Amino acid sequence: MPSTADIVICGAGITGIASAYYLNKAGFKNVILVDERAPLTLTSNHSTECYRNWWPDASMLGLMNRSIDLMDELSTDSHNMFHLNRRGYLFVTAREDRVQAIIERSRRISSLGAGPLRIHRSNNDPYNPLVVDKLHDAPDGADLLLGTDSILKYYPYLNPKVVAALHVRRAGWLSAQQLGMLLYESALDHGLIFHTARVTSIDLEKGRIQAVGLDNGELISTPIFLNAGGPYLKTIGSYLGEDLPVVTELHLKAAVQDSLGVVGRMAPLLIWDDPQYLPWDEDDIEKLQGSDDARWLTEQFPSGIHTRPEGPGESQTILMLWEYQTKRVDPVWPPPLDDLYPEIAVRGLAAMLPGMKQYFSRLPKPHLDGGYYTRTLENLPLIGRTKVEGSFVIGAVSGYGIMSACAAGELITSHITGGPLPKYAPAFLLDRYDDPHYVETLDEQADGGQL
Ligand SMILES: Cc1cc2nc3c(=O)[nH]c(=O)nc-3n(C[C@H](O)[C@H](O)[C@H](O)COP(=O)(O)OP(=O)(O)OC[C@H]3O[C@@H](n4cnc5c(N)ncnc54)[C@H](O)[C@@H]3O)c2cc1C
Repeated sequence: MPSTADIVICGAGITGIASAYYLNKAGFKNVILVDERAPLTLTSNHSTECYRNWWPDASMLGLMNRSIDLMDELSTDSHNMFHLNRRGYLFVTAREDRVQAIIERSRRISSLGAGPLRIHRSNNDPYNPLVVDKLHDAPDGADLLLGTDSILKYYPYLNPKVVAALHVRRAGWLSAQQLGMLLYESALDHGLIFHTARVTSIDLEKGRIQAVGLDNGELISTPIFLNAGGPYLKTIGSYLGEDLPVVTELHLKAAVQDSLGVVGRMAPLLIWDDPQYLPWDEDDIEKLQGSDDARWLTEQFPSGIHTRPEGPGESQTILMLWEYQTKRVDPVWPPPLDDLYPEIAVRGLAAMLPGMKQYFSRLPKPHLDGGYYTRTLENLPLIGRTKVEGSFVIGAVSGYGIMSACAAGELITSHITGGPLPKYAPAFLLDRYDDPHYVETLDEQADGGQL
């Protein structure tokens, strides 16, 4: 390994790899990517791999639209090697009293640049639920289906009490591993060097980056250091004497075999948008309520449980996710898992997909995994320079790091090269926290649009 580099990137997750790819494209030849693990094996290996441009914040929406443009281009150029689809996200509610609020929020998001909102009040309105290929011709914006009949006509497996379904169209899923490998291998072909080691120190001279120290005693001289350390962003920042304003939250997901075919295999990502109480038998409720440890299982659970079919052809796998108990914790690997999670998810999904009840007495064997959302309080990423000269950060990409990776990698490259910056760039700079008013209003911005 050379002892000097134009840039050292710490972290070969999707953000570090996308950065390496766009830096190479911008002409940097001597880029060293350092990771103590194999590429794409930490958080980036545990996501649900979904993407959408539907965000309540204009900067996030701009970032995601750009990232989807870039993924579309990569998909065309690679014969869709990373299986990008455009199934969309379907947000479903059974509550008439929420419909007006959904319309207003959707109009607001549409006006920020997510594409038009088409409201369908009759089941004869033209609506194409599925675009299998020709992603570029797929509809933009969202279709809002109103009325049970219109919804069940296309999604017969949903709860017959459903009254509205918002189908976000510039959305779907992909193989994060294959997207990451495509970027990684292309960067290697253009001179990227990958080095297995842990970054343990960073040397400064006269307040600017001088060299990066590794656990094996090696030192790489470099004028530019990029922190792409995922859940360890803060630790790496501390080597520069910086306190990056991020926290880490544990998030789990479960995969099960849907052998009874409850979820349509061509379904979009299905999201139940209503809070709910889990369906228990009366006997169970009595027992659970009698126990201090278990009573919470009979209390109200939040909206947002989601599922999607996973895998090609004959696959019966579905993924299930629900943030019913967000735990802010320091990252440890492997992450602590919660054995109750799959049963809670199956019961929660029954509100949207009544067929799930068939699994209550015999839960399919789950595969449970998870990782950490590394995020800022307001859920906007950190992409740009830090206080130390020559030092940059890309991260705090929470539950959207896969979908944003391409635009984030492109953006950090523009920061490093001094290239033109898009309109959304300032919103992601670390120095936004220098504004006391911004810091005071962080709580008000807490929605962040995260699922
Ligand atoms: C359950 C779950 C579901 C998710 N679903 C989605 C989704 O549907 N769509 C989406 O877009 N995103 C999703 N995400 C989020 C997404 O997975 C993350 O935002 C993304 O993977 C973060 O990538 P990263 O490169 O920043 O971090 P990582 O992938 O964690 O990479 C960081 C790398 O830095 C390395 N590193 C750290 N410290 C050091 C050091 N000192 N020296 C050397 N190397 C170091 C680590 O070894 C690691 O390889 C989900 C996440 C979870 C947990």
